[in-house]
Amino acid sequence: MKIIVCVKQVPDTAEVKIDPKTGTLIREGVPSILNPDDANALEEALKIKDKYEGTNVSVVTMGPNQADVMLRECLAMGADDAYLISDRAFAGSDTWATSNAIASAIRKIGEYDIVFAGRQAIDGDTAQVGPQISEKLDIPQVTYVEKCSIENGELTVNRQLEDGYEVIKVRTPALLTAVKELNSPRYMAADKIFEAYKKPITVWNINDLDVNPEVVGLKASPTRVFKSFTPDPKGKGTMMKGTPSEAVEQLLVNLKQKHII
Ligand SMILES: Cc1cc2nc3c(=O)[nH]c(=O)nc-3n(C[C@H](O)[C@H](O)[C@H](O)COP(=O)(O)OP(=O)(O)OC[C@H]3O[C@@H](n4cnc5c(N)ncnc54)[C@H](O)[C@@H]3O)c2cc1C
Repeated sequence: MKIIVCVKQVPDTAEVKIDPKTGTLIREGVPSILNPDDANALEEALKIKDKYEGTNVSVVTMGPNQADVMLRECLAMGADDAYLISDRAFAGSDTWATSNAIASAIRKIGEYDIVFAGRQAIDGDTAQVGPQISEKLDIPQVTYVEKCSIENGELTVNRQLEDGYEVIKVRTPALLTAVKELNSPRYMAADKIFEAYKKPITVWNINDLDVNPEVVGLKASPTRVFKSFTPDPKGKGTMMKGTPSEAVEQLLVNLKQKHII
């Protein structure tokens, strides 16, 4: 079985800053990590590899050269090989352009059974890239996967809903997006950390991919960011004083005043 996991290096903070001129994320000076949902996606791929001998797990990212560190972390967790798509021509890509580049890299990697992505990246936060890749590869997709099993070559997943889950049998090749409930990602193994720094990482630039330069990069990106901001933190709320029954009475008065009850 061949599994490809899309992994993204993201700033280790929920408070990313936006360049007011370009509308793009400012990443300088912010420590980077493997996107949390992608760690779940990789863990699931590695669990399948643990269970089915001969399974190969590749990780692929589009990003700057610094993403090398994250890819080595993935190798140290147990991935077999890593691909970095990196070129100035990809800079400024929105989700549409990002998925064009990643889909062409996946096509170049070759035959696969499952493509995993995280549900959402903690910086861009759109949850669009996984589903867009599946559209571009023309394969079925299941998002919000919280459980995954393969029996007799048949892939069955539980898709998370607000109030439960759906059980879906899906034909492969397919793309799945992982949520954090899927598993607990493993730590890097000490022996594999050493190996990870000896393994080559395949780096592809735009000329290595069969992708039209007009569908990647900032100019090709249809998204326009008009405004982006961190919402003000919510206040502490109103504390009711007195005994419990006095507090309840006061609460009812306040709710009536606001016409909530
Ligand atoms: C005008 C514009 C310019 C932008 N310029 C840049 C830029 O220069 N550099 C930049 O990094 N971002 C840039 N972005 C942000 C960029 O659009 C998103 O970060 C990126 O497309 C992924 O979207 P997302 O973070 O919402 O991912 P989501 O859709 O939330 O991610 C879902 C999953 O898709 C996969 N995935 C997402 N991105 C990647 C990736 N790069 N490699 C591998 N897998 C991935 C992961 O598995 C992830 O969990 C720009 C956005 C806009 C609107």
